[in-house]
Amino acid sequence: MRRGFKTESKRLALEVRAEIGLGAHEPFDPYHLADEYGVQVVQLTDLDATDAVQYFTGIRPTALSGALIPNGSGLLILENDSHTPQRRRSTLSHEMAHVLLEHPFGVTLAHDRKCGLGGDNEKEADLLAGELLIPFEAARRQAWKDATNEQVAALFEVSIQHAAWRMNASGARKIVQRTRAARGWN
Ligand SMILES: [Zn+2]
Repeated sequence: MRRGFKTESKRLALEVRAEIGLGAHEPFDPYHLADEYGVQVVQLTDLDATDAVQYFTGIRPTALSGALIPNGSGLLILENDSHTPQRRRSTLSHEMAHVLLEHPFGVTLAHDRKCGLGGDNEKEADLLAGELLIPFEAARRQAWKDATNEQVAALFEVSIQHAAWRMNASGARKIVQRTRAARGWN
């Protein structure tokens, strides 16, 4: 990941949220963002391709989460709508992060939040998607409130795993613990 990206992603996520009228402390709406950027979102089950739809929704539902596909002069995101709404929001946020970061791509397939892009582009998209779904300052506020992963997940409409990742990997809980220890509040 390039130097300074973590800081940049925090700022960018708040800017992008503001673009669609959202503050830091409310659920993110990746569908609204896609619409704002003229990116069409197509549901897998709407495709007129019975075998492919059955394969990705029934036989191997984890093989495809989403795909970012060039479409004429624009872009299209195909989403696997057999997944939970929380997972779909995460997939779509990841794909939109690639769009926001202007990552070069051919066709990318998200598989467990990994597309075909690989390397730094994937890490950057994951980090930015994380900031979009739960901004750092929102994670910090929830850490001060001693919110559980379940509470954070419900508040931001993400999976419990995603909430746990953001609360821990963002450093939010650690910062609060350290501050409390330093002030003798523990
Ligand atoms: Zn990706």
